Amino acid sequence: MTAPDSTMAQISRRMLSAKAEQFTESVIREMTRLAMKHHAVNLSQGFPDFAAPEEIKEAARQAIAEDINQYAITWGAKPLRDAVVEKFARAQGVRYDPEREITVCCGSTEAMMSAMMAIINPGDEIVVFEPFYENYGPDAILSGASPRFVKLRPPDWSFDEKELSAAFGPHTKAIILNTPNNPTGKVFTRSELEFIRDLCVRWNTYCITDEIYEHILYDGAQHISMAAIDGMRDHTIVVNGLSKTYSVTGWRVGWVLAPPGPTQPIRKVHDFLTVGAAAPLQHAGSIALYFPQSYYHKLAATYAAKRERILKILTAAGFTVFKPRGAYYVMTDISGFADPDPVQFPAETKDVRFSKYLVEKVGVAVVPGSSFYNDPRDGASQVRFTFCKKEETLAAAEQRLSRLRA
Ligand code: GLN
Repeated sequence: MTAPDSTMAQISRRMLSAKAEQFTESVIREMTRLAMKHHAVNLSQGFPDFAAPEEIKEAARQAIAEDINQYAITWGAKPLRDAVVEKFARAQGVRYDPEREITVCCGSTEAMMSAMMAIINPGDEIVVFEPFYENYGPDAILSGASPRFVKLRPPDWSFDEKELSAAFGPHTKAIILNTPNNPTGKVFTRSELEFIRDLCVRWNTYCITDEIYEHILYDGAQHISMAAIDGMRDHTIVVNGLSKTYSVTGWRVGWVLAPPGPTQPIRKVHDFLTVGAAAPLQHAGSIALYFPQSYYHKLAATYAAKRERILKILTAAGFTVFKPRGAYYVMTDISGFADPDPVQFPAETKDVRFSKYLVEKVGVAVVPGSSFYNDPRDGASQVRFTFCKKEETLAAAEQRLSRLRA
């Protein structure tokens, strides 16, 4: 005899983690699976579909051949720690101690999670700009933080200073910042960072800053790390990694730069979560971090051309586009399109119905806007496209999206 559904639900509720029940699987990763299932052009998950630089691949092959195949030191192989610290000092003029102020992790995803688990206590609040990269929601739940959301509003994704100030208080432990920003393409300006700095200092909170898109900038936009803002070095936890800068998202090599105070617990959390990131890939990363300036210029120029291309494609197809100043996503407004199936799927928001229609019927995968918001209704008229793709891929998307107009 099978238990009735309600009994099953009770059993599973008792047997499984209540924390894990509070969030869904990643919509971004799910959209990639749907793209594969429907043979759609994948403009959902942000990973390059073109080759990684030959030099970094050769360095990885060589590291394996030279038998760098056992555990690295848990907080990171010395050459990589040195290279990260050097590069950050060159770019931002702020020096970290490679022995006491850096932790290498399995991608910036683990870096973010380890940082949050290392500083959060029950009752702590974190301030999160919204729309936000979807991982930050589960990160908050798993670490036990209560998020306070502050809106970034289109078209320029600016925030209301009063609203931000009101989100800070005696329980605030940290603000999460992502600049250049996923999904909006916003690049925070010095004066915005200084405004946030004043709140962090006033309430004695951390700023956890995800800088994974630091080199993907347009129209002369400049990446300023919060760690380089006067008075913020000791309040800042910098998260970054190899993934986007060197087009190796599958390698899972990231890091956290932070003062010795938070670095100590971050290293412990990281050690017991994963022990360490892949040793030969850390070694290859240490070589890539010394690439000449021309590499980064070329990367930004390549993405600038792709940005122009996707903006043209999307505008022609009828989307309202919000032009990004950094990173490799375009948020769009879909108000101009009819709702594909509001009657059959009334529980879903329009962006979800529209994204399903796009992947199944048009053959292009995107990320529904609601997955970047706490309240799905806030993202109901948005979808996100990524453009870190080959010209062939963008051309295929162009052809398929042209059917949409008709
Ligand atoms: N950052 C990428 C995106 O937003 C994907 C990251 C991931 O799936 N781990 O699409």
